[in-house]
Amino acid sequence: MLDKIILLADIRYAAKTPHIPAQLMAPTGLLSDTLARPLRDLRISVTDRCNFRCSYCMPSEVFNKDYAFLPQTSLLSFEEITRLTKVFVAHGVEKIRLTGGEPLLRKNLEVLIEMLAKLQTPAGKPLDITLTTNASLLARKAQALKDAGLQRVTVSLDGLDDATFRRMNDVDFPVADVLKGIEAAQKVGLAPIKINMVVKRGTNDAEILPMARHFRNSGVVLRFIEYMDVGATNGWRMDEVLASKQVIDRINAEFPLSVIDPNYLGETAERWRYDDGAGEVGVISSVTRAFCGDCNRARLSTEGKMFLCLFASQGHDLRALLRGDYSDAHISAAVAHIWQRRSDRYSELRASLPPDESPPSDGSKRVEMSYIGG
Ligand code: SAM
Ligand code: SF4
Ligand code: SF4
Repeated sequence: MLDKIILLADIRYAAKTPHIPAQLMAPTGLLSDTLARPLRDLRISVTDRCNFRCSYCMPSEVFNKDYAFLPQTSLLSFEEITRLTKVFVAHGVEKIRLTGGEPLLRKNLEVLIEMLAKLQTPAGKPLDITLTTNASLLARKAQALKDAGLQRVTVSLDGLDDATFRRMNDVDFPVADVLKGIEAAQKVGLAPIKINMVVKRGTNDAEILPMARHFRNSGVVLRFIEYMDVGATNGWRMDEVLASKQVIDRINAEFPLSVIDPNYLGETAERWRYDDGAGEVGVISSVTRAFCGDCNRARLSTEGKMFLCLFASQGHDLRALLRGDYSDAHISAAVAHIWQRRSDRYSELRASLPPDESPPSDGSKRVEMSYIGG
């Protein structure tokens, strides 16, 4: 509690001194953290609730009927999210990802998208706005999302075998309905679609090749994510991680692959293309090949806390500023102050330790992925 008060007092102090020292700016005049990483990407969690209970994210034993989800009054309103986004955009953010929990559970999400789609970068470019979803509601909402200004979507899908998928989402949700959502998104032009598959060794790794076969030649980019030790409830073990290298080896044995350049600096996925021209796949190797060096992502939790790392245990309370007597300039100074002091590089630190050992923490629990947004 004391920590939180100190943190808030610190932000309030920064908010009252809206001067950003020149030596802390990147060469472009934009923000830079202590490891010279700019701020480019903002992930906004719009709800901490979800209709799935994927065991690696919201295990049903923990996220049950007694779990204390955030009350409605804690959530940032669409106006508050848009106001904060403007501040982040002025500091260099170009890309917005709406996430959660399940973002499509947030009522009238398309209204927020419409508000965000009107914002521009200081250079006058539109923002790159995307959304990560389990697609359970996508078939119903794809057209409204597209009309509101959403450009593309990332869909999470952990396999094509119905029994395996139902077991992993733990709410008996059928694969066929996710595929219908993907089809609807394709139809309305939410493209390019990306599919995220979290690979758990011994649980769904037999789905790697069927997924690769299914999405070849479809224009959809399939990405395999190493199972991560995010949060404090999923019972993560190193022996359940299948290294991306092995994923690539398995696909390469059937469909030869060649590595290709990233689309931009800081891209989380390593890209590979099928040599026969059937498209590309990606791997996100957060465990075996940390990419903190280029990490330009900030996260905004559902209740307005700014997090500097997926593995953080504490956030910076921007909602207190939004709902207090602070101008945009004050909030902007606070965001600058927070980013300029950032030194987070959890995955790199963990990679330097023996397997199953975690970097030292301040003793508080790491926040859950469903709260902070993936
Ligand atoms: N509910 C939406 C969905 O599943 O797409 C958005 C939120 S979810 C937290 C965002 C992403 O995080 C998903 O692609 C999910 O698979 C991934 N994820 C969640 N827990 C993970 C874990 N322990 N390791 C790796 N990826 C994880
Ligand atoms: Fe829900 Fe997404 Fe987490 Fe699965 S990964 S439980 S769909 S928030
Ligand atoms: Fe970024 Fe933290 Fe992930 Fe490293 S561990 S890439 S700093 S979110």
